Amino acid sequence: MISGIPVHLETEHPAIRTEGLIKDYKRTRALAGLNLTVPEGAVYLLVGPNGSGKTTTMKILLDLVRSDGGEAEVFGLSPIDDGARVRAQIGYVPEGGIPGYEWMKVGHLIRHHAAYYPSWDEDYAESLIRRLEIDERAKFKTLSKGEARRVQLLLALAHRPPLLLLDEPMDGLDPLVRDRVIEQIVDHIAENPTTVLASTHHIQEMEKLADHMGVLHDGRLLAQSTQDDLHRSLRRYQLEVPEGWTAPEAFSGTVIHQNGSGPELAWAIWGEEEQITGALTASGATVRSVSALQLEEAAIALLAGTEGT
Ligand code: ATP
Repeated sequence: MISGIPVHLETEHPAIRTEGLIKDYKRTRALAGLNLTVPEGAVYLLVGPNGSGKTTTMKILLDLVRSDGGEAEVFGLSPIDDGARVRAQIGYVPEGGIPGYEWMKVGHLIRHHAAYYPSWDEDYAESLIRRLEIDERAKFKTLSKGEARRVQLLLALAHRPPLLLLDEPMDGLDPLVRDRVIEQIVDHIAENPTTVLASTHHIQEMEKLADHMGVLHDGRLLAQSTQDDLHRSLRRYQLEVPEGWTAPEAFSGTVIHQNGSGPELAWAIWGEEEQITGALTASGATVRSVSALQLEEAAIALLAGTEGT
């Protein structure tokens, strides 16, 4: 049996679970029935074009925004009924600034933030200040985008929360700082049991961190899978096909992206390579080569498959 693109993830211990989540902003449907599953301990990359609903999803998990339908849970708790307990377990790097606190000096902002978290680790915060080269004397509102992002990362990490919600954590960082931030996140995860949900347009840079990926489009997941499954199951097949060739029936729902027109085709197909190659050969196509897709290529192939829909 050739199976279709996976949109459901099975896990006994979800850190985050949403079912049929819907969010409307006046005339805009931001989430259109989102079924997101982030297993405990996963580093889950949520990718998707601008406006696909990544920020909205995180805000609903924090109860900063209320959904219009469906359910959301964080460690089995409802963000609406148990908002304070949910937020206490989350380190959040928001996409924008920190509204209401921009006038504070960074050192003041850090102390102010620390007061809300009993688990705040002063020594760790100090080491993050040094490692991320944070200037405590600067006013937050005078910081560049990249400098502000580093402060936000410190605020998210220093209480060692079990869940990190990182909304575009690489945004505004120069390439050198990006590497340092990735290293910092890698070290943090190695030393602290943490689940991470990170939205990003910098898939390649975050690939080495991630073990899961979900591809969001128009408020719905096109696919979500472990990185291992993606590497194993999503392949690009270079084909040579006879005139008038049509794809085998069994491929319905598995062809993610099609490139080229006969006789030379490049198709991204989900499934077991041996079965796919067998079915292609039986249909009269010649399989010239097969290659695995990197996460970014996989996301692009999935999103390209939606063009015109
Ligand atoms: P990006 O990659 O650009 O950050 P995103 O995937 O995070 O985008 P969201 O910010 O969740 O997307 O937005 C989803 C949709 O909802 C977009 O069409 C956006 O314009 C709309 N939207 C988000 N917030 C609001 C709001 N406060 N009022 C009206 N529309 C909104």
